[in-house]
Amino acid sequence: MSNPDLRRAFAVGEAKRVWKLYGFQTPADLVLEDLAMAMGVVVLEAKLDSADARLVRKGNRGIIRVKQDIPQVGRKRFAVAHEIGHWRLHEKESQVVACTSEDMRADYKGSNLEIEANVFASELLMPQALFKPAMAGRTPTADTINGLAGVYRTSRTATAVRYVELSDEHCVMVMAEAGRIKWWRASKELNGSLWIKAGAPVSNRTLAGKYFAGTLDCEEVQDVSMSEWAERYPEFAEDAIEAAIPLGQTGAVLSMIWLE
Ligand SMILES: [Zn+2]
Repeated sequence: MSNPDLRRAFAVGEAKRVWKLYGFQTPADLVLEDLAMAMGVVVLEAKLDSADARLVRKGNRGIIRVKQDIPQVGRKRFAVAHEIGHWRLHEKESQVVACTSEDMRADYKGSNLEIEANVFASELLMPQALFKPAMAGRTPTADTINGLAGVYRTSRTATAVRYVELSDEHCVMVMAEAGRIKWWRASKELNGSLWIKAGAPVSNRTLAGKYFAGTLDCEEVQDVSMSEWAERYPEFAEDAIEAAIPLGQTGAVLSMIWLE
């Protein structure tokens, strides 16, 4: 099986099989340490320097070490789910893996194995069959993303990525830090027709810009011209709405941008 799309579809299927196999019904049923243990894998917190998490495999036994200094529970859970992904999917490819925070958000770029582990983690933590109905009729405001992150015990970033990935609407998420755009994701309705330049300064006419200027009120939502964010976008996407979600002590801010 070498076609990347087929391999990703397999990773999604594998996460679904885990839910079925263990009879999980709700996000509360998914206790990652117990699940790993049932698969023969021990999860430990450890001092790790460059990696967020590691997996060592010996036959049908394994150890996942997750970096103890990661402050957010959601990020830790994603890292563990990602390593469980390597455990289920990559028995033939690798016996020892060390994964960085960059690896944890690889999607179209980056190594196929990392992308597959993320696809698995995302479906394991936020199954489409539950998450998509929970999104229905809700715009991606801070309230929506925070609410979903609470139910699925995921980071706001992973939750926002999942929202955009499963959305049938026109929406984009942009991560900005220190006044600059870091990375972004667009929903399938805009993918290919919209382009945002990573590294570009954040416009002061956006809510993210207000955040960096120190004048953002929480729960704020505003009209924004897509030209403030994107270098290229379809004409119909000019008038958009933005919500900004400050990510606390990281100093980063997540902007959700959508069309009415
Ligand atoms: Zn990995």
